[in-house]
Amino acid sequence: MTSTPVPQSKINATLADPGKGEHLWVILAMYKVGDDTIRRMNSGEDPGPTLLDHENLLTTEGAGCFKCEQPYSKFIAHRKCTGSMGDPS
Ligand SMILES: [Zn+2]
Repeated sequence: MTSTPVPQSKINATLADPGKGEHLWVILAMYKVGDDTIRRMNSGEDPGPTLLDHENLLTTEGAGCFKCEQPYSKFIAHRKCTGSMGDPS
């Protein structure tokens, strides 16, 4: 089993805006979280170290732009990004 511990600095990390008009390309990965981990969280316990490995990787999605929420295409990549990093309200 190949596993990678998640660096604490990457948990709920604040993303840096690459700049106005620049896309922030991302690929999302979804990992299955075990029932034991959820039970520990439900009882207020530390869920323990989160490991990302090939066994619990469910899917990846992308690439897409985090800011304008458009999937990658040559057209979108050549166009300036019209999105923003967050809700301005
Ligand atoms: Zn964009």
